[in-house]
Formats: sequence, C-alpha cells, structure tokens
Amino acid sequence: MKKFNVTPNETPQLLEQIQENAGYHFQNTALLMEAFTHPSYASEQKEPTPHNQRLEFLGDAVLQIIASDHIFKTFKDLHEGLLTKIRSNITDEAANVSYTRKLQLDLALLLGKGEAAAGGRSKPSTLGDLFEAFLGAVYLDGGLEEARRICLPLFPDLGKVLNDIQSSINNDPKGKLQNYCQEKLHTNIHYELAESSGPVHNPTFVSVAILNGVEIGRGSAHSKKESEKNAAAAALQHLLSQEGNDVIEPPPPVVQPAPSASPKFPSGQKRLLALDFDGVICDSAAETAISGWKAAKGIWPDKVTEPLPPQDIVEKFRRIRPYLETGYQSIFMIRMLVDGEAETSFQYSLTEKFAVMMEDFKLTKEKLVHEFGAVRDSWIQKDLESWLAPQNPYPGTIESLREALLKHRVLILTTKQERFAKAWLTHFNVDFPAEDIIGLDRKTPKEETLAEFVRANKKNIHFVEDRLKTLQRVAAIPSLKRVNLHYADWGYGTPSELHEAKSLSRIDIITLSDFHDLLS
Ligand SMILES: [Mg+2]
Repeated sequence: MKKFNVTPNETPQLLEQIQENAGYHFQNTALLMEAFTHPSYASEQKEPTPHNQRLEFLGDAVLQIIASDHIFKTFKDLHEGLLTKIRSNITDEAANVSYTRKLQLDLALLLGKGEAAAGGRSKPSTLGDLFEAFLGAVYLDGGLEEARRICLPLFPDLGKVLNDIQSSINNDPKGKLQNYCQEKLHTNIHYELAESSGPVHNPTFVSVAILNGVEIGRGSAHSKKESEKNAAAAALQHLLSQEGNDVIEPPPPVVQPAPSASPKFPSGQKRLLALDFDGVICDSAAETAISGWKAAKGIWPDKVTEPLPPQDIVEKFRRIRPYLETGYQSIFMIRMLVDGEAETSFQYSLTEKFAVMMEDFKLTKEKLVHEFGAVRDSWIQKDLESWLAPQNPYPGTIESLREALLKHRVLILTTKQERFAKAWLTHFNVDFPAEDIIGLDRKTPKEETLAEFVRANKKNIHFVEDRLKTLQRVAAIPSLKRVNLHYADWGYGTPSELHEAKSLSRIDIITLSDFHDLLS
C-alpha cells in the first residue's frame, strides 16, 4: 500500500524488480508496459496509448484454464459442483488482488492523476484486473507454460480451500440448503425431530432434513437448533454429491455415534481453570461489530454515516471475526468493510494493513483503545439491555461457570477491558471476583499470567482458548509445559486453524461438551 504514484521514468526499474519477483523476463517489453497502464493513465496522454483492458480480457481466460486444469488434476474424485466453487475461490477478484500483492505488481501501476489521488492504487477491481493483464501479457510473450509456471506458486493450498468451502457450508447450512432447494429444485425443505435422549440437563437431539418426503440428511447435537444445522449440512453435502442426477436418491442410513459415556475430564479433581472470554464463554461478535461501527463513526463521520451497522455488515464481520485479536481492531475492520474490502483479504497481512491505516489516519493504539472503550461505556450507561442483547453465552456456559466457581479456582484471561467482562457476567448472575478477570488493563500477556501460576506451584492448570496463535505462544515456552492447553472448537477459529491444531500434539482440541465436563 504505497502512497506514491509512479512516473514513467521510475517504471523501468520497478518493472525489472517485478519480473524478478515473478521469475519471468519479457522479450517484448511493450506488452509489459501495456499491462501496467490503467485506462485512467492512458486517457491523460496526448498520444494514443494502449491500456491494459484487452490484456485483462485475455488473462482472465488464461487464468481460468490454468486453474481448472490444476484443480481437475488435484482432485480426482470431486464432482464438478465443488470443482467450480474451488475455481471461483482461487480466480475471483479477491484472489487476483492477493496475487497482485504477492508479486508487488501494484507498485508499478500507472494511474491517472485523479484516480491515484482517489486511492485507485488500492481499489480491488483495479488490482484484480492488473494481475489478469499481467498474466495475459506473459501468455502472449512466453506461452501457456510460462503463464502456468507463474500461477502455480501463487495459488493457495487447494486442500485448505476445499476445507474452507466445506466449513462455510457448515456455518450457515440451513440458509444455504434453503437457497439451493428453492433455486435448483424449486421446492422447500423441512425439518423433523427424530428423537431426543439423554439427561434433562444435557439432552441429545436428532433432527432430519426432509425433501419431498424423503430424508436427505440427519444430524445430532445437544440443542435442537444445532441438530437441525447438522442435518442441513449433511443434506447439502448429499445434494452436492448428487448434482446432475435427475432424481435425488436418499443417502445411505448413517450410524450415529453414541454420545461418549465416560467424560474426558473426570470430576473430583480441583483445577485451576484459565479461560478465555470471547469465543469461549461469550459469543460477542455482533456486539464487537456494533461497537467497532460506533467508534468508526466517531473517527470517520463522512464514511460511516448510519448510527448502526446494516445487517450485512454485521454478518460479514462475524465471518471475519477469526482474524480479530483485540476489540479495538474492529474499528479498522469495519472501515475496511465499509470501503468494500473483500472478506478473503482479511486473511492476508492484516497486521501490516492496520499499521498502514494507523499511519494514514494519524491514529495510535492508545487512542483506538480509548475510543472503543468509551463507546462501550456510553452504550452501557445509556442502554444496558441493548448492549447485552447481541452477546450471548454459548449454550450451558453460564451454568458451568457457576458450578466451576464452587469447585475450582477460575480465572478469565481476556484481551478486552476487564470492566466489560465483569458487567456481562454480573448480568448473568455469575458472581465472578473482579480481581480474577485479567484483561487488557493489566497489560500482561496471557502467557505471563500463566507463568505466575506455574511459579506459585499451582497444580492442574488448564488453559482454554479459541485463538490458536495464543495457544502456540504458550506452547513455545518450556517452563509452561505443565499447563494443559485446550483449543475451543466452538469459538472463532477458522477451519484451517482447527486443522493445524489437530496436528499439534501439545494442544488438545475440546468440544463445548468437553468444556462443561472440564468445568464440573
Ligand atoms: Mg477468544
């Protein structure tokens, strides 16, 4: 995100560097110049100057064939519905923007003066087109194989892409299933409760998704709502696998694993429980989005005009919530969403993007933390109920916390300001000692707090956290090796983080049901 605009004199040197980055040197440098010429620049020249839109048209097709071929050969058994989804994921605008940034093509882009001043260098459509134009130029200059040689290292890991697609199906499976059935099959789906079992305080529900009288998916969970979601996810997978068939066959019957009889954490042991707050106890994504919005409105009143975020912004924020580390960063994330930044771009170099924004807008971390806290304080003061409404406990966590406070030593380690966790717990009648909520105000990283307890010779320490990076930081400290590390799989982690966590023997993955056992 350089702020300067290049002049044609600087271009040769930058283009040299770019060819170096891409590992390809052009025979015909006029093609290269054309690829880097934005229409706004061409229109300011006295001489007729070719711009990059024709090359972009060609490069688009070149990218499609290279991606299709690569995906087709990587996944030998996948049906075309999913192959198409994977291809759009690695060839859409956001993907092209990331390729442009990886090769640093944006540094040499020639923009018209007005376009540059309006921030054209970071416009996703411009950056996406630039990669395609560059690829089109490589294709004309060196042929398809050279273009392929450039693309393959840029593509993301296809296994991860597939994983993410499958889990996004899993995130809102009911909505997706509904759309699918209406658009493609012109019919509606409905759900039925097939059975419920187990003790009253921890029941298990089995729901089935029914299409035209045929069961096409079945799912179980500890709440009826979740069991319908699981049934919808199974039904969607089934429908995608049947795509192209004229008649939807019912899936083979599934054998439900019996809920495990013996708990993972036996009761009777006194434990020191160090619990993360957001994403473990409290689902606060919507509240964070609204507070971020209100603070952003205070900072950029001309950009963020409405008093509350529109629903689609809240939903987008929920999906990018995994990339937020501390609440105040939501202010930047909201601004990026308002500016139209694609959700996928939040995966890349977010820390650097925040740093650039901090510099561009002359902000400091202290100011942002203050603004964010002030928004929450005044919201709580004006209307406590409406502040609490968008932050719900995960199912059963309140009851488990109350129980844990009677049996164990419980601490909350959070990156939010302590008073907000305290206010929320108080509202739910959890009598949590304020000194045991260790938050942003103490300026102590979680690993340091844990180290204090290790030094004090505390036994049976369990740390529950939904942010993998934090767990990895703790795992890297040899003196903390007797702290049990648990990755909460119901929190804000991404599917690829869960995948990574599974490969780490030091980190244990727990479900919400395991968490209740741990606290009891
Ligand atoms: Mg968390």
